[in-house]
Amino acid sequence: MQLWKRTMTDIKSLTPEELNSVLKSMGEPAFRSQQIYKWLHQSGVNSFDEMTNISKSLREKLGEDFFIPCVEIEDKLVSKLDGTVKYLFRLFDGEYIETVIMKYKYGYTICVSSQVGCKMGCTFCASTLAGFKRNLLPSELEGQIHTAQKDLNIRISHVVLMGIGEPLDNYDNVINFLRTVNNENGLNISLRDVTVSTCGIVPRIYDLISEGIPVTLTLSLHAPYDTLRSKMMPVNDKWGVNEAIEACKQYAEKTSRRVSFEYTLINGVNDTLECAEMLAEKLKGFISHVNLIPVNDVEERGNVRSSEKAVNNFQFALKSRGINATIRRTLGSDINASCGQLRRRKEGN
Ligand code: SAH
Repeated sequence: MQLWKRTMTDIKSLTPEELNSVLKSMGEPAFRSQQIYKWLHQSGVNSFDEMTNISKSLREKLGEDFFIPCVEIEDKLVSKLDGTVKYLFRLFDGEYIETVIMKYKYGYTICVSSQVGCKMGCTFCASTLAGFKRNLLPSELEGQIHTAQKDLNIRISHVVLMGIGEPLDNYDNVINFLRTVNNENGLNISLRDVTVSTCGIVPRIYDLISEGIPVTLTLSLHAPYDTLRSKMMPVNDKWGVNEAIEACKQYAEKTSRRVSFEYTLINGVNDTLECAEMLAEKLKGFISHVNLIPVNDVEERGNVRSSEKAVNNFQFALKSRGINATIRRTLGSDINASCGQLRRRKEGN
């Protein structure tokens, strides 16, 4: 009978410095830490037994106090149209997240989830519907990449944090993950090829500026003025359109990275010429990029996608006012690749 329960530590979420000091305290030489780091972050092993150049006794000792949280495949859908793959992953505590892999000319991009569910409550989004459960650990953010790479036998070159959850609402774990992803003894993915998408948690955008990790930043804007944006995105009641855009300008200026804006087009809501004009006015003189996305249908949400004509007109109105704008190509439309829907089905909500 088990009379006590030892608390296990997630070894894959430790920073290199933390891992060093753990191994030092176990009397191990410095190079051992790097060997183990590579197993965890370059190879993405799921158990200590896979660490074949580490002695059995050390593997056993590690297994007494530490665990490696696995990200396991529960379900997998492959688009017949374009090969986009969508996973429903199961986490060590039985929670579910979704992850999408897209193939582009320049390589494979992964769209990772940052939380189990979301608290932000955007009215057009499926991720909020099944409720918020918890933040993802740094190891679980990274594990999505490892599991997908192994399953598909590919190397993922680009990462976007545009899956379920709000990355800047899980700030510390996301920062830890970004540093790990970029580590040369880990996945070694360039920060230039990593995009963080936020609904606009303004103080965290300023924090991100000072981290010294120049990722690409994307603001989910979706409306050019406060009353409309607040109706669509409750976060706007705290930080309005002007404040959010100003934070993005600062980000671009301080990091020298171009910022982009997501603008989901909903029929009769935010796709009018007036909206395009106001948006162009707000972004005037700011070297940025607007991604126009016809809204994906989410049954309960009742939003209707803008017509092709309205989308083209909106793009034209922006471009003719000097604003760089593209229409997002929809990938994986036959597998409903936009996030939140598989998890919701699983949770029975
Ligand atoms: N919380 C972050 C990242 C997750 S959402 C953010 O808000 O940016 C990724 C992008 O998909 C966001 O721009 C979000 O607004 C958009 N999105 C959510 N639901 C959508 C839908 N039904 N159709 C089109 N885009 C949607």
